[in-house]
Amino acid sequence: MEDLRRRLPTKKNGEISNVAVALPPRKASDALPLPLYLTNTFFLALFFATVYFLLSRWREKIRNSTPLHVVDLSEICSLIGFVASFIYLLGFCGIDFIFRSSSDDDVWVNDGMIPCGQSLDCREILPIKPNSVDLPRVSDLDSVEDEEIVKSVIDGIIPSYSLETKLGDCKRAAAIRREAVQRITGKSLTGLPLEGFDYNSILGQCCEMPVGYVQIPVGIAGPLLLDGIEYSVPMATTEGCLVASTNRGFKAIHLSGGAFSVLMKDAMTRAPVVRFPSARRAALVMFYLQDPANFERLSLIFNKSSRFARLQSITCKIAGRNLYPRFSCSTGDAMGMNMVSKGVQNVLDFVKSEFPDMDVIGISGNYCSDKKASAVNWIEGRGKHVVCEAFIKAEIVEKVLKTSVEALVELNTLKNLAGSAMAGSLGGFNAHASNIVSAVFIATGQDPAQNVESSHCITLIEAEGNDLHISVSMPCIEVGTVGGGTQLASQSACLNLLGVKGSNNEEPGSNAQQLARIVAGSVLAGELSLMSAIAAGQLVKSHMKYNRSSRDIGPSSQVNR
Ligand code: ADP
Repeated sequence: MEDLRRRLPTKKNGEISNVAVALPPRKASDALPLPLYLTNTFFLALFFATVYFLLSRWREKIRNSTPLHVVDLSEICSLIGFVASFIYLLGFCGIDFIFRSSSDDDVWVNDGMIPCGQSLDCREILPIKPNSVDLPRVSDLDSVEDEEIVKSVIDGIIPSYSLETKLGDCKRAAAIRREAVQRITGKSLTGLPLEGFDYNSILGQCCEMPVGYVQIPVGIAGPLLLDGIEYSVPMATTEGCLVASTNRGFKAIHLSGGAFSVLMKDAMTRAPVVRFPSARRAALVMFYLQDPANFERLSLIFNKSSRFARLQSITCKIAGRNLYPRFSCSTGDAMGMNMVSKGVQNVLDFVKSEFPDMDVIGISGNYCSDKKASAVNWIEGRGKHVVCEAFIKAEIVEKVLKTSVEALVELNTLKNLAGSAMAGSLGGFNAHASNIVSAVFIATGQDPAQNVESSHCITLIEAEGNDLHISVSMPCIEVGTVGGGTQLASQSACLNLLGVKGSNNEEPGSNAQQLARIVAGSVLAGELSLMSAIAAGQLVKSHMKYNRSSRDIGPSSQVNR
């Protein structure tokens, strides 16, 4: 019989809830008033006793020539006992039938109950109609007033997005929204924490309509010895092996004298799309924007957007009568998307006054190019362009990385260069740069979506005598140490660990640039370690060890470990 669930009111950790709880499978014996073994014994004994009694009386009657249908009280009682025990013994096995036809069962079926399968969360709340009057509570709200607000949100009287403004209390707004979401969807948010987060810190900057926060573990790899300084690098990830592998790369680099980085360029870009009546007019404006004689005037207008924004260049592309001017500017310690967009808007307003037939179609025309793999980023760069290198001694390659210089050089040529070329890769001439970029980005409050172009990287591995030279060239590392998610408590702590928290007041921009170098140094270590693991044939083995919980694998797979 299937494991069924029943709606029960429960109170756990102060939370009153109508939850579907997993009940043990119902058995036929559940219908009996006494324990099963007692009832069985009683009816078996009754059955055999009555059979014995009736048979012996039957034999006596035959001997005495008494008609069989003449029965006394004891025989009537025996007959009743016999029939009752017979029905019991016969019906015991099929007693399910009683349950199946009972009206109680209809409630379970109509409630939409489903068997509690392995993949289902048995604590999930039952689907509840949004406008149901008797709504169950799934968490403790602060007051009756909160309960009323939840109902108003459910009924659409108060828009969920306006809760922060209306209540003036971000935590309370999140709690009420969360409650409303659970009731509307009939799905539990248990497991997504509400407590322990500063909801004021994200208001108007990081996340709208919050109902909780997701936890991602942060591991520390290091020390990374980069340009003579040691860094402990925080990595937020749920991929087993990643931190351990990067750590091994750091060790090999450290033992070989460290890594060295060069910042080639620091310029965030934005490219609007503007349209003209003709291609000739579009070309005219293109020449105007690219004319060095006009640059000072345009940069003065652009730089009004922020004391940190400094226009560096404007390069244009034309498609028919549409123009895509790509503005590049330094943005201090901010990643800079807001800053550059404001600057571009200033310039567009000015150009429009000079060329009134210009039609601004969009502040972003995708020639920027933000959060998309593109050749323009790969060739021209976006954000910070960093190259990072290390010389790894042959003995370190053998002792720490468990492979050889020759094997690494060959693998890099065939995998990261030829293999990526065969795949038609765009900026993906590497083993797993995006793994390290994403982990450091999430830990330090960067925009994880910019991982797309920030992970553009070409890894080169060459023999240098007996030793090895490895480098990563990354033209689009888009990072900041002010603004966005960098100011949140956890992310800010990680930036602090790296010594690049916030604005660098002596040399604005140097914190963000240093962070970009650290990202490149970490990618260098990640590339070195993973390439070594592949060259040594260790990849599958180490992933089996670190990337799979023993809870997830059965005995057969554990044999492989
Ligand atoms: P982004 O442009 O990356 O989206 P924001 O506009 O959110 O960044 O944050 C940048 C803000 O931080 C601006 O208001 C800027 O004036 C301020 N700021 C303070 N110190 C610095 C600094 N050292 N570099 C850049 N911006 C800074």
